[in-house]
This record gives sequence, structure tokens and C-alpha cells, in this order.
Amino acid sequence: MNVEDYIKGLTTGNISTLGKAITLIESSLDKDKEKAEKLIEKCIPLIGNSIRIAVSGTPGVGKSTFIETLGIELIKKKKKIAVLAIDPSSALSQGSILGDKTRMEKLSNSKLAFVRPSPNSGILGGVANSTKNAITICEAAGFDIIIIETVGVGQSEFLAQSMTDFFVYLTLIQNGDELQFSKKGILELSDVIIINKADQNKTKAKEVALRLKNSVQNHKAEKNIFICSALTGFNISAIWIHIQKMYLNKTQTGEIEKTRHQQNLYWFEKNIITEFNELVLKKIKLKNIINKLTKDSLIHPRQHARKIIETILKEDLK
Ligand code: GDP
Repeated sequence: MNVEDYIKGLTTGNISTLGKAITLIESSLDKDKEKAEKLIEKCIPLIGNSIRIAVSGTPGVGKSTFIETLGIELIKKKKKIAVLAIDPSSALSQGSILGDKTRMEKLSNSKLAFVRPSPNSGILGGVANSTKNAITICEAAGFDIIIIETVGVGQSEFLAQSMTDFFVYLTLIQNGDELQFSKKGILELSDVIIINKADQNKTKAKEVALRLKNSVQNHKAEKNIFICSALTGFNISAIWIHIQKMYLNKTQTGEIEKTRHQQNLYWFEKNIITEFNELVLKKIKLKNIINKLTKDSLIHPRQHARKIIETILKEDLK
């Protein structure tokens, strides 16, 4: 398939092409990388106005159920929804906690939805990079809402936040302890906090929500704590209305554009380092250099490394 074929498929709503396009951008082969870059370039002018949402929380909290219930509601409104995953477990091993397609069966079966299991290889930063590109591809394919699902563990939460407009954190009644939140910095990171499985004990859920609200000094955050049941659909509409309002408001104030620009800057800086590393490692024959090292040259490892890099750069600039 050439780049034009991909674009044709994407713009005519061909879901199979969308899957293939994402496989292409996840590939680490040099020939695929080149094609992937061209594809992304062609996709950029096609990007529409999607809402990008990160959904996080520990395994079992109800993320997939929440995404599926919300997704089905959105599909009824004729919205197109894409679900992508950043899964730290899949980056470290071949196993995956997230992105199991069968977990969102109803959503996966809809023509208006696209559910992409997490890439199951590569380093977390690389996985996140391809997820960022996958967002671009989904937007070019006309998706209105893009959800990035991630497990609530440090770096993957941060990476998901660095490519979305809103960070939604799911928790449970028993986990809703305000101390836990402040320790993890979740309150600062989250735009919306949801106490899920409220159907199990609505009174208790309300209590926890109140306790959480009282522990938050910041008035803005106070409004963004919800109780819900992803299973029964309780409060899902209210949460969606709230996210939409936030999006509209932040679009009008220019905050969305500003945040996205800052995110692009962050990814640019990150990629400068990655690309530079790759370029240099391609150029130098590290094994030869190591073989030639003397004991003395290693007394100042950093200084010696810098000298080698400087020599390479000078030679390149000649
Ligand atoms: P994930 O690992 O965070 O994606 O969690 P899942 O969506 O797979 O949900 C884990 C389990 O919790 C499943 O058995 C769900 O049916 C159940 N579950 C999810 N949301 C709710 C809810 O709102 N209420 C109840 N009672 N169970 C729920």
C-alpha cells in the first residue's frame, strides 16, 4: 500500500485501513518509518476538531466499562469515537493489562468506533510516541472523540496527559481517600475525578465525593468530582455534558490551542533527543571506539564521551 492508498482509505472511513496505518506508524523498520512520516505529514492538514481525553485508573476500577458505556452513548449521537491505549505492562513485557479488544465488544462492533489494543512491544516512550501519531491518524479519519486509556502508574499517566485535552481519573469508594490522591498528585493532574461503581453503595460514594471535595482547596477542582456507575450508566451523561462544557469554554479562551501547542513543544524536545541519539549511534561505530579505549580515557567518562561527539559533529560540519 502506498501513502495515497492509506489516505484514500482513511478519508473514506475504511476501518481496516485505519488499523493498517497505525501498524505502519508503530513499525520500527526503517522503510516503514519513512512511509509513516509521509503519511503523518499528509494527515496533518486533514485534522478536525476532536476532543482528546485520557482515561486512567488502576486495573479493575472500570475503565473499559466506562469507555464502552460513554462510547455507546456518543455513538447514539452519531459521534465517531476512537480508543487507543498506552500500557506500561505491554512495553515491559509482551503481556498487556489494557487494550484487550474483547473487553469493549459492543463498542468494537460499531461502525462509528475504533478500538485499538495497545502496541505490545517497544519502550514506553516509543509506545507513547506512536500513540501520539495514532491520534493524528484518527483525527484525519474524522473521529470526533479520541480516548487514550492508560493504567494509573506514574510515567504512563504523564505521557497520556501530554497528548490529551482532559485527564479523567477513575477511582473506587475504598480508594477514594484524599490522602492517597494528594500523595500521587492525582488531583493536580486530573481534570475530572470519578468515583465509579457507585451502584454498590451510593450513600458511601456520595460521602467519599464530599470528603474529597472538602479536601480540595482549589474551587475549580471541586466542581469536577463525580460519582458514577459505568455498569448502569448512572451519571455518564452528566460527566459528558461537563467535559463538553469544559472543552467549549477552553476552546473559546484559546486554552486548548495553547495546551496543544505546549504539548507539541514537549514532544518536539523529546524527539530531538531521540533522533539525535539514533543519528549519532548510526554514525559512530561504538564497538570500535570501546575497543580503542584506554584506562586513562575512562577516568573522565563524560568528558571523553563529549570529546568523541564533538569530533563527530565537527567532521560533519566540514
Ligand atoms: P478496567 O481494568 O479498569 O478496565 O476495569 P473493567 O472495566 O474491566 O471492570 C472491572 C470489573 O468491574 C468488571 O467485572 C466490570 O463489570 C466491573 N465494573 C465496572 N464498572 C462497574 C460499575 O460501575 N459497577 C459495578 N458494580 N461493577 C463495575
